[in-house]
Amino acid sequence: MTAPHPYDAMVVGAGVMGASTALHLVRGGMRVALVDRGGICREASGTNAGTLTMHMTRAALIPYALEGWRMWTQARAWLGADVGVTQAPGLTVAFTEAEEALIHQRAAARGGAGAPIKVITPAEARAIEPGLSPGIRAAAHCPIDGHVTAYLTGRGFAAALRDAGCDVIEGLPVTGLDRDGAHYTLRCDDAAMDGALRAPRVVLAGGVWLEPMLRWLGLEVPIKVLVNQLAVTERMTPVMNSVLSVASGLLSLKQFANGSVLVGGGWQGRGDRDRGGFELIPEALIGNLRLAAHVIPALRDARVLRAWLGLEAETADAMPIIGPVPGHPGAFAIGSVHSGYTSGPYMGRLLAQAVLGQTPERPLFPLERLISHDTDTAA
Ligand SMILES: Cc1cc2nc3c(=O)[nH]c(=O)nc-3n(C[C@H](O)[C@H](O)[C@H](O)COP(=O)(O)OP(=O)(O)OC[C@H]3O[C@@H](n4cnc5c(N)ncnc54)[C@H](O)[C@@H]3O)c2cc1C
Repeated sequence: MTAPHPYDAMVVGAGVMGASTALHLVRGGMRVALVDRGGICREASGTNAGTLTMHMTRAALIPYALEGWRMWTQARAWLGADVGVTQAPGLTVAFTEAEEALIHQRAAARGGAGAPIKVITPAEARAIEPGLSPGIRAAAHCPIDGHVTAYLTGRGFAAALRDAGCDVIEGLPVTGLDRDGAHYTLRCDDAAMDGALRAPRVVLAGGVWLEPMLRWLGLEVPIKVLVNQLAVTERMTPVMNSVLSVASGLLSLKQFANGSVLVGGGWQGRGDRDRGGFELIPEALIGNLRLAAHVIPALRDARVLRAWLGLEAETADAMPIIGPVPGHPGAFAIGSVHSGYTSGPYMGRLLAQAVLGQTPERPLFPLERLISHDTDTAA
């Protein structure tokens, strides 16, 4: 006879989505194991640019990003650590007529969805951000953007999860999932752990690795992988106080309290989700830095201290996956949304409500719509 197992749920993948789901499940009364092949929030959730952004969030996701922003800004209350949260105005600037049209269009869509974004004149933008290039034609302004120090995320969640009584198992790559009767069992190459973790519920929260994870259940769900480059400068005297982006994309810019400036925006490097390993593309880094110095001319004097890369996931329709896995009772999936750090804590809370058997306070994003049935047809 199998020994009774202590877990009500297992969460595989301890990025912001998995860690938040696990934390809210434990606080909802479940016994939870959170498993990661590395450490908590060491992939996208620890390497990202930390921008809390309405400007880079699609209109349909604005209500989720607003809740995520609220959770981050109150992180001390529910997480027990503030993870470097700084509220700052967000500006998306337009240099060309086409970019100006774009910011008007997006401000209308995102404003309609509840984000307090409005288009302002160059003079108004420079009153908010005096270091801005004189060449801008207009800007979209959101007073409630901000940023977080992403590498502190894991430290914050680790302490909160431990205090709540979650079993956090790091350094354990899961290789598959079995189901016998009402229980799921995690497969792994570690002989002592293989088959040892069982629960009636499992949450897959693998970021870009959600695609191979869903294959454990026989499902094909293509997930796009973005290989984002980021760079941070040496400490500088204050050159900016807002969170900046450019309408046509490819720039995100902020200065931390210690004076260093983080330069990102989605310039692509090389990377491989399945084999691992990254390669920075110097021309892309130079392009990113030139654009940054074009927007904030004082950055011409900046010296880059460090550059790195991380993998960001996106589904075919750019909406997240949050909900049950069809055909697999007790299995759930979460993640794979662009700019998911902003809304991650809230999306985890929503999925936890569903796993706990409650009615989630906002609609989930069913996986069903993304499942490719090509293999069935070919068979
Ligand atoms: C460079 C970069 C910059 C970004 N900038 C921003 C930004 O400024 N603002 C914003 O809102 N969003 C940003 N994002 C997006 C954001 O970081 C992600 O949407 C979010 O962190 C995804 O969280 P996640 O938990 O889904 O995935 P992840 O954080 O990637 O977590 C997935 C976890 O699954 C684990 N895992 C995978 N396979 C296995 C396995 N077989 N067994 C066990 N564990 C496994 C991994 O180790 C990992 O810890 C950025 C992303 C990147 C990469």
